[in-house]
Amino acid sequence: MKSTEAQSHITKAWINVRYAGSTKIYQIPSLIKDNIIYASLKDFAGALNLGFFSNKSKKKEVVRIGSRSIKVTSYNPFILVDDKVYQLALNPIESNGEIFVPLSHFLGITAVYLPQKVLFDENRLSLSVKFSQYNIVAVDISKRENGYIVTLKTTKQFKNSDIAASIKHNWLNITVYGGKLDSASLFTKIKNQIVDQILPFQFKKSAYLSLKLNKKVLSRKVYAGEDEIVISLRTLSSVEVTGDILDKQRKKWIIDTIIIDPGHGGRQPGCIGKTGIKEKEITLDIAKRLKKLLEKNTNLKVLLTHEIDKTMGLKERTQFANKNNGKLFISIHVNATTNHSARGFSTWVLGHGKSKQALQVAEKENSVIQFEDSPESYKDFGDAAHILNAIANSSYQKESMDLAQIVNKEMKKYTKIPMWGKGVYQAGFYVLIGAAMPRILIETAFLSNKYEERLLRTRSFRQKVAMAIFKSIKIFKKKYEQGIG
Ligand SMILES: [Zn+2]
Repeated sequence: MKSTEAQSHITKAWINVRYAGSTKIYQIPSLIKDNIIYASLKDFAGALNLGFFSNKSKKKEVVRIGSRSIKVTSYNPFILVDDKVYQLALNPIESNGEIFVPLSHFLGITAVYLPQKVLFDENRLSLSVKFSQYNIVAVDISKRENGYIVTLKTTKQFKNSDIAASIKHNWLNITVYGGKLDSASLFTKIKNQIVDQILPFQFKKSAYLSLKLNKKVLSRKVYAGEDEIVISLRTLSSVEVTGDILDKQRKKWIIDTIIIDPGHGGRQPGCIGKTGIKEKEITLDIAKRLKKLLEKNTNLKVLLTHEIDKTMGLKERTQFANKNNGKLFISIHVNATTNHSARGFSTWVLGHGKSKQALQVAEKENSVIQFEDSPESYKDFGDAAHILNAIANSSYQKESMDLAQIVNKEMKKYTKIPMWGKGVYQAGFYVLIGAAMPRILIETAFLSNKYEERLLRTRSFRQKVAMAIFKSIKIFKKKYEQGIG
């Protein structure tokens, strides 16, 4: 059903919507660009009978599902589902003042929130819609240090009293009163270190799931959240369970991979000192020293975004971190300003920086995108205050702040240089956006200050900086992993 109307390399097309058990047909205008199908968000909402409104001046559109809202901004990969931030692999595009979303990617994130079961066939440009009677739509199993977490994704909130979980002969049996499960989709693709098999059964008044376990489970806990049922299984006996471990567990993670990002590189020298020394040389050297310290003294996996002097996009750096399952992202920089007496270290987390100092530093670090191939792809980050605010309130923010504070303390202790200003700042750093882990940026000292330039040129000072960050990582890891159980 591709139309012949072409608009440079963008082709217009229609997506046919078919509804199970109905002859009704709906068509969603769409655009095809580089073989990717972008659907009109407004008509997508219309096809599914969802609430919709747009704020044209802010280039923002909102789809409403009951009390929940999905916010999309044109040319911005971040979408908000209530206050959760998700990242699309491709930016939504705009045509005639309307937003078009890359439909497959968009559904990949939002399908679980939709009241209907939606299947998109890209080749046939067809979207099939089934008004789902199901309220348990997916199962996810993940590993924790002392056990496993089984999560049932639900489309409604169940009460704790609706759920029963028991273990008998290595079978974990979960009964959800009022649950309706989609056995076809639950059957598939579960193969895990702990679960060999999942058997779903639908009874008249309840849903029943049996999971065959291959490890001995010592205890279990059940928790019903807004859109999930979480069952924690403890498999190790060495740790005592105290308090409400489940609540804690959901916030904890194992810190096993550290991503170190030496600021700048290649065509991006960063700031340059009076003696000609470049920021990129210093940051790469500190990063390598830090890596050495971590590898020598811990079992952590340590990855540098680049080990040689090369040009690297800011997004590329966080993508590298995500792809390698990083648990901490630390970007190392050197500060500079026109005020030559300014000196000291500072640490930065992502947020909506309002102070003049914060804006200046963010501008300095963000300006490197001019060396990148497509700097325009960042253009909506700068003023997307709502995105930055949402990120500031999202998960990892508390941990990022915490890590920043630890780093400040250790920097003071090891480098003996002063803390600049209030020490921890928030600003909209592009290099931190998108890293799905606690993330900080450290401005180690001022290259624009004569005394600190002299320090930054010495191996001993760089080693002290590396030592301070190394100690900080150790303290942070210990603190966050201890709570696990
Ligand atoms: Zn920098």
